[in-house]
Amino acid sequence: MPPEGGAAEESALFGDAGLSRAGSELTAGGVALSEIAAAAGTPCFVYNANAIRERFHALSRALLSGLADARIHFAVKANSNLGVLRILRDLGAGADIVSLGELRRALAAGFAPGHVVFSGVGKSRHELREAIAAGVGQINVESLEELELLGRLAADAGATVRVGVRINPDVTTGTHPYISTGEGGIKFGVPFDQMDQVIRLVTTGRSLQLVAVAVHIGSQITERAPFVATLEKLLAVVSLVEASGVRLEAVDVGGGFGIRYGAEPGIDLDALGAAVRPRLKALADRGYRVMLEPGRFLVGSAGLLLTEVLYVKRSGGRTFVIVDAGMNDLLRPSLYGAYHHIVELEAMGRDVAPVSVVGPVCETGDFFAHERPLPAVRAGERLALLGAGAYSFTMSSNYNTRPRAAEVIVDGGRFWVARERETVDDLLRGERVAPPNP
Ligand SMILES: *Cc1c(COP(=O)(O)O)cnc(C)c1O
Repeated sequence: MPPEGGAAEESALFGDAGLSRAGSELTAGGVALSEIAAAAGTPCFVYNANAIRERFHALSRALLSGLADARIHFAVKANSNLGVLRILRDLGAGADIVSLGELRRALAAGFAPGHVVFSGVGKSRHELREAIAAGVGQINVESLEELELLGRLAADAGATVRVGVRINPDVTTGTHPYISTGEGGIKFGVPFDQMDQVIRLVTTGRSLQLVAVAVHIGSQITERAPFVATLEKLLAVVSLVEASGVRLEAVDVGGGFGIRYGAEPGIDLDALGAAVRPRLKALADRGYRVMLEPGRFLVGSAGLLLTEVLYVKRSGGRTFVIVDAGMNDLLRPSLYGAYHHIVELEAMGRDVAPVSVVGPVCETGDFFAHERPLPAVRAGERLALLGAGAYSFTMSSNYNTRPRAAEVIVDGGRFWVARERETVDDLLRGERVAPPNP
């Protein structure tokens, strides 16, 4: 089946995103996207608050129902807009962060420091010090050297740091190799056979408290088998740690739950729940708090990128639709060959023909679709690229000195600009054409 699928797939995508047609007009959360485009300009990201809430509740229901004390930590790198973070905090989520910048964002959005987990394979000394000072709830270490450094920094600060150890479970996922993180021989996690050294390090110092074991096997995973296999390995590690006399508080199962971008369905939550809930329940019954770290699943479908058609041209037997968003705004197609469904804001029952949708950036890799059947659009019309709520704005850049797009949140039939479009002045700030005068 072609990745773009048909009407049934489109209606599933619309359902996930909270999109519908009022007459010919595309609306998100009850607001006409043309109105948002007119007010905020294009390119612009639009996030539907209710779509985020629905995903949060669906995930809680499917995986965590009946588990006392379980918590979802949102992976901030997927979408770090403060308004989006606030929606998730208000739902009771914690935050999973990978940098000091994300720590500052999580705190600015109102997350309690104790509900922040600091992940990442290469945290700097400076970042670890700041995280200790802020009192983050858990620092997930990924190497013995990091653990040793963390012990020294905690002792210097006179603090006791709550540590999680991210295990490399050596599980294969079948997702894109760039977003597969749980196999042996890649940079993430501590290998199993170093666990006894971890335990020794933690128990000999007084500044570290081992509170959790953690995994995260990759992203956009739509099969349940890798999650089941990973949980089995986690259970084995928990027993190993228990046997050494260390009492853990929590088991952090990671994120990676895949969503629907096109014809391929996202993860089947009910089936995943049926497969993993008994194992999660067993952990909860043994007194462990279950933690999840989803990013993409909570926000990916809830966002879209609005863009305006600048030109339509024929060249080399092809039709190119040149739009005002580029790879600097949405990198996923260029980086992973990722599919984003594209729809027109105004549906007019036009002829459909294959076109390439490309951006203005000076790279042949600057494309959103190749030979995609789309209704014939004209300059000045707007398109929406769906599935742009995760790893979209957060991966955007200023390449070609293009200011980053505005971000808009739709909630309760209203919308507001949650992040203003950057200006060129923002981009030039801090640059000097010559050395400063002595
Ligand atoms: C990126 C990341 C996540 C979230 O991954 P998703 O695929 O967005 O759910 C969770 N945990 C860690 C450690 C990560 O690096």
